[in-house]
Amino acid sequence: MKTITTSKQLQQTIDELRIRRRSIGLVPTMGFLHDGHLSLVRTAKLENDIVVTTIFVNPLQFSESEDLATYPQDIERDTQLASEAGTDFLFTPTHEEMFSENVLTSISVTEISSALEGASRPTHFAGVATIVAKLFNIVGNCSAYFGEKDWQQLQVIKRMAIDLSYRVEVKGCPIVRDSDGLALSSRNVYLTKNQRSEAANIPKTLIKAHEMIRDGERGPNNVKQAVLTHFERSPEIEVDYVELVNGETLQVTDQIDERTRLLVAVKIGTARLIDNMNALKGPSI
Ligand code: AMP
Repeated sequence: MKTITTSKQLQQTIDELRIRRRSIGLVPTMGFLHDGHLSLVRTAKLENDIVVTTIFVNPLQFSESEDLATYPQDIERDTQLASEAGTDFLFTPTHEEMFSENVLTSISVTEISSALEGASRPTHFAGVATIVAKLFNIVGNCSAYFGEKDWQQLQVIKRMAIDLSYRVEVKGCPIVRDSDGLALSSRNVYLTKNQRSEAANIPKTLIKAHEMIRDGERGPNNVKQAVLTHFERSPEIEVDYVELVNGETLQVTDQIDERTRLLVAVKIGTARLIDNMNALKGPSI
C-alpha cells in the first residue's frame, strides 16, 4: 500500500492506472477506522482491481458546536488496518492540501438533505457533498463505497452523482455491528462504560420495532411511539429523532411497506449516534 498526500499525486497515479485499464474502488472516510470502514474496503477490493481509501476529517461537515477538535484520530493504526483490508492507495491530504483558500463553492442536494440529520445539522450534508464531489473529481470514473449506517448520506451522495453526471457508481454496504448489535462508529469511543452498555438499547429498540412490524403493525405512528417509549426507559438516551420514511425520498411515510426505513438519532453523553433499518427486514443483527 502506498500513502499519497497530494491531489496532484493521486490524479497522476489514477491516470497511470487508467492507461493500464484498472478499475478503481473509492472508499471515503474520516479515519479512526473500524470494521465498518474496513468492510467497505474489502467489498471495494472484491469488486475492483485497485482500492483507494481516503482519510480526511472534513471540517465542512461539522458545525461550530460539534466535535471537530476532538474527533478521534490514529493514523498509524489506520494505515495498518487499511493496508491489511486491501487498500492499494491511502489518500491522507492535509487540510491545506484540500482547501488552499477559503472554500467559496458548496454543493447542496436539496429536499432529501433537509429533514432528519439535516434538520439537526443544517450545514452537514452540504459539507459532505462538497468534499465527496471533490474526491469524485480527483478520482473520476470509479465505484464509490458508502455505509448504510449513514443512510441519508448515502441517498444524498447517490442523488448528487446522478444530478451532476459523475461517472461514479455509488454503492451502499450493510451496517457492521458490535457483538451486542450497536452499529460500529468512530464516535463510540466517547461513551463511558455505562453509556456503552445503554447504547445497546439502540439496536434492541430497532429489533422491538421490527417485531411489531413483523407481527402485522403497519401504522408508522404506532411504531414511532413504541420506539420512543422504549428509549424513555434508558435514562442516558436523549432522542433527537425517530422517523419512518420512504428510504429513497426521505419523506415521512403514512404506511409501512418494503421501501420504508426507520431512522433514529440519539445522544448519549457527548456522543450523537445514529442507526436505521429497513422496516420490513429489520436490523440484521
Ligand atoms: P466516517 O468515517 O464516519 O465518515 O465513515 C466513512 C464511511 O464508513 C461512510 O460511508 C460510513 O457510512 C461508513 N461506515 C461507518 N460506520 C459504519 C458501519 N458500522 N457499518 C458500515 N459502514 C459504516
